Amino acid sequence: MKVVVVGGGIAGLSAAHRLAETKRHDLEVTLLERTDRFGGTIRTIELGGCLVELGPDSFLSSKPWLTQLAERLGVADRIIATATTHRRSHVVHRGKLHPLPDGFLMMAPTRLWPMVTTSLFSWTGKIRCALDLVLPRSRATGDESLGAFVRRRFGGEVLERVVQPLIGGIYAGDPDRLSLKATIPRFLEMETRYRSVIRAMVAQRRAAARRGGGPTAGSGARYGELVTFDHGMKTIVQALMESLPEETMRTHSDVVSLSREGDLWRLACGDGQHIDADAVILALPARKAADLLRGIETGLHDELSAIPHASTAVLNLVYRRSDVPHPMDCFGFVVPAVEERDIIACTFSSVKFPNRAPEDHVLLRAFIGGARQRHMLGFDDGELNRIVRAELKDLMGIEAAPLHTALARYPDAMPQYLVGHSRRVERIESLLDRYPGLALAGNAYGGVGLPDCVRSGEQAAERVLEMEENGSR
Ligand SMILES: Cc1cc2nc3c(=O)[nH]c(=O)nc-3n(C[C@H](O)[C@H](O)[C@H](O)COP(=O)(O)OP(=O)(O)OC[C@H]3O[C@@H](n4cnc5c(N)ncnc54)[C@H](O)[C@@H]3O)c2cc1C
Repeated sequence: MKVVVVGGGIAGLSAAHRLAETKRHDLEVTLLERTDRFGGTIRTIELGGCLVELGPDSFLSSKPWLTQLAERLGVADRIIATATTHRRSHVVHRGKLHPLPDGFLMMAPTRLWPMVTTSLFSWTGKIRCALDLVLPRSRATGDESLGAFVRRRFGGEVLERVVQPLIGGIYAGDPDRLSLKATIPRFLEMETRYRSVIRAMVAQRRAAARRGGGPTAGSGARYGELVTFDHGMKTIVQALMESLPEETMRTHSDVVSLSREGDLWRLACGDGQHIDADAVILALPARKAADLLRGIETGLHDELSAIPHASTAVLNLVYRRSDVPHPMDCFGFVVPAVEERDIIACTFSSVKFPNRAPEDHVLLRAFIGGARQRHMLGFDDGELNRIVRAELKDLMGIEAAPLHTALARYPDAMPQYLVGHSRRVERIESLLDRYPGLALAGNAYGGVGLPDCVRSGEQAAERVLEMEENGSR
């Protein structure tokens, strides 16, 4: 059986690896990648003595699929946690960096006193947030937007000042359009089980503290669950590539069309090459998969093209420590849309991870664009550098020029799981049932995080193997 995987990002590599893991001699796997390198969005480089992530910098260990893959590839001992000091986030409030109240995790406070004393929220906002403790569960059964959920449970201030920028940093999206169920369903589960989300989070924090793990202090994202590789995210890409036979992997192979030739799938590449296969895994952004499926199944094409994608850019900057007046006592900051600024977040990478920059240097990583600031990607590199430096001067007091910078653009890279996304994915799956030899993988369906992408690649491989067992194409 011949299987072709299209797209050499983490999802495609995981799919090819899962197939190769079976060690079946009757299975021929080919992985086609359009560019000159594998890894897709994952790109780690060296810049002025710093270890720089141009794309993702970490992953959630609570979603086990990437960690399990690393174990099977023999690189799990290279996984490290985020730094244990300064595990907190700041947020821009009225033009200044403001610490999030200690214990405020993603959506809700888990500690009373920091919430009472913070000047981030008004008294009305604090009282409205506390109403979560007494509000009943929602009786509605349909999909709800993340924004509507937060407004309903905690009020508009919590949404505007904290949840929107935190979510904006992760999904590059607009909470009023994103589906809660498809993005962070655990908050929905908390409401269903405990009624109050604050009660649920406090209970979880106490349970974690009793077990001797989990986030007992800090604020912002789930930093206690975030891990990375000591030499950067490229570690997993290299390990996957080393695990695959060389003849399996082809770069500079841009698949431009897909068609059916009897029982086989025919792939045409930009260089005029044709490849016939028994099964195909499209590990591509949804819109690219849609383009290839246009002539095969209109329903699939329409559903896939209806998943919008946001564009982002990441600017890494290396500074001398002495040129940065800010105390750098947090993992970075996020910027609420109501502040109307030109960056959406900034990570202090050399604080968040050990050994990312020489002792007397700092490494910052600023995010630009997202669903609400699509126009920002229209600026050229020089202009984006200028914009970010102006923001860092204003917010962190950095007047000096950076020693080094590296800009990476990710056009249409972040799928937006809008309200109704889970239903759309169900429809896509049922349409796919008509084509057992066709599978989809990647970040557009069941999770945008790296562990989700690994799982989607592995599931696509399993689907193709099942097809063979069932004797269907
Ligand atoms: C800036 C940024 C930061 C992020 N940070 C994090 C993070 O810290 N943690 C986390 O868990 N997630 C993070 N994410 C999300 C995560 O990185 C992505 O969801 C994930 O890498 C997507 O992997 P993928 O394999 O689905 O797609 P991609 O990485 O996009 O790979 C798709 C591949 O397909 C190739 N391709 C496209 N068209 C064709 C064609 N026609 N023929 C052949 N090949 C083709 C592309 O060249 C590419 O290599 C981040 C995303 C971005 C953009």
